[in-house]
Amino acid sequence: MPHTFAEYEHMIRNGIPLGKTSKSSPGRKHRIGIDLAEALKVFGDTDLATMWLERARWGDGPITCPLPVCGGTRVSRTKRLDMPYRCKDCRNWFSLKTETSMANSKLSFDKWLLAIYLDLTNLKGVSSMKLCRDLDLCQRTAWFTLQRVREAFMSDEPPPEFALGGEFQLDEAYFGGLEANRHFIDRIPGGQGGANMMIVISITQVASGKMWVDIIPDTRADTIAETVDRIIPRGAALYTDDGQHYHRIQMERHPVNHNLGEYVRIVDLANGMQRMATTNTVESGWSMFRRSFHGIHHKMSPKYLRRYAKTFSGRWNIRPLNTEEQMRHVIHGMIGRELSYDILTEDNGLPSGGGPNGAYHPERRIRYNGELDDYILQE
Ligand SMILES: [Zn+2]
Repeated sequence: MPHTFAEYEHMIRNGIPLGKTSKSSPGRKHRIGIDLAEALKVFGDTDLATMWLERARWGDGPITCPLPVCGGTRVSRTKRLDMPYRCKDCRNWFSLKTETSMANSKLSFDKWLLAIYLDLTNLKGVSSMKLCRDLDLCQRTAWFTLQRVREAFMSDEPPPEFALGGEFQLDEAYFGGLEANRHFIDRIPGGQGGANMMIVISITQVASGKMWVDIIPDTRADTIAETVDRIIPRGAALYTDDGQHYHRIQMERHPVNHNLGEYVRIVDLANGMQRMATTNTVESGWSMFRRSFHGIHHKMSPKYLRRYAKTFSGRWNIRPLNTEEQMRHVIHGMIGRELSYDILTEDNGLPSGGGPNGAYHPERRIRYNGELDDYILQE
């Protein structure tokens, strides 16, 4: 039952959760979802959206100066619409966009929050074409807005749960090939890749189900070992397949021999526990990611593969959260991650075109490929 403006104002100011658990929809019934009607009513209202954002950003605490060198809490509200706060310590004006990936955007907060809402309520995200129609934005703005939202997932750091250690699984997949993104060669243990061949490495934590991914330049034993050492804490146990390129890993490791048809093996861990060594169990997210490439790989842009991979894992990791918590997660992830269009679209040496031949047709600036067009683009 939607509430009145005053009721929503009261809820937001007092941190009362929006939304409700769904009685009729399948899946996670304990999750509190916000339906579209309510999202439009709250996030679609500039005043409520601004209130919600303030609350998401600072909670019960004081308004804090976002400038990293300052962080002052002696802040006054001003009448300036574009810069509604002023820090009495560093004397700078700021807004909720300052020092975030929303910086220098003219978009109002209702559109920002609706974009975040729409992008998060679908595991694969909303397409820029859909967003441009739904929010009445031009396609370039819609695309850039989505990339700024997803910037929240671009951190190099693993999920905080990784620090707890335990058991982890490691896997890699190859994307792309000599002819841009025409070929897709999945999982070649020990392979070295080729021109435009990209390797995505994934590390999942068994207990939390959380996933960390990134692009690695090659699968040399040293590269893999360095990545593992940086992402997995000491004292953890690692399950891999029997690839030869894992031999430099300085960690308790239990290979599962896929070539012999072995997918699960009982192992005695160094800590005395007996566990099922497998790279299958926590792989569901990772395999969904790979399948999504199988389905659409000919439309994928190598240039934005890292963004796609990180966004996918970021979304995967927050999917148990309520809608509002997911949105807050993104708001906090956007802090300190200013992103300009020029830097985002800067040449990184990888082809940006999609299409069956991996070719980019300059005369067709926008190539509509359904929900994943956002990684194909257009400059
Ligand atoms: Zn300040």
